[in-house]
Amino acid sequence: MKTIGIIGGMSWESTAEYYKQLNEGVKQYKGGLHSAKIILNSVDFAEVEALQRSGEWDKSAVLLCDAAQSVERAGADFVLIATNTMHKVAEQVEEAISIPLLHIADATGAELVRQGITKVGLLGTAFTMEQGFYKQRLTDKFGIEVIVPNGVQRKLVHDVIYNELCMGVISRRSEDDFHTIIRELAMNGAQGVILGCTEIGLLVSQDETEISLFDTVEIHAHTAVKEAVS
Ligand code: GLU
Repeated sequence: MKTIGIIGGMSWESTAEYYKQLNEGVKQYKGGLHSAKIILNSVDFAEVEALQRSGEWDKSAVLLCDAAQSVERAGADFVLIATNTMHKVAEQVEEAISIPLLHIADATGAELVRQGITKVGLLGTAFTMEQGFYKQRLTDKFGIEVIVPNGVQRKLVHDVIYNELCMGVISRRSEDDFHTIIRELAMNGAQGVILGCTEIGLLVSQDETEISLFDTVEIHAHTAVKEAVS
């Protein structure tokens, strides 16, 4: 079995979910007492968030490259960046290591194609919803049209991620707000909605909506498990 490298801590609330799902996934594949072989480098999210806010992406890339190199040195066979947003610097990370990076948008795009989705809604941080690094990849590599909420809703989603979910706060009101936004994306033609931030699955669940939700932690972790046991 291959060893999974994780660059985590962005935030640790969602990295904990990755850890759980990777282990559950390996157990499902291999049974018994089997669990995932994982090397985790968990960064201080306050440092990363400050660099995001000031637009110093090159500095954040150095931080993530160091973390990726450390998991490679420690014996990881491939690596996950356990956040959608920080895939903004995925190319730099890929160049800094000689093991493969399992890109979260590629895992998600492959799942959308598998389910026949051609137009999808995207929820995530403002960086993920508004910049090209994520949406464009889904369109260019997978031919998927990506739509996002309006400006007011994007700000709400972004603020809930940083001020609540990354701090471990789960609020009923935010859950309702997210479901309203998800319904609106569906009304605008989305055949499904990507939970394109690794904390959103902590707030909304598939049970409460008929619209197909694509939880990037679930998809990324599942793809990593398949790679690990292959
Ligand atoms: N975990 C989040 C994501 O998937 C947001 C935190 C971050 O900025 O990395 O985008």
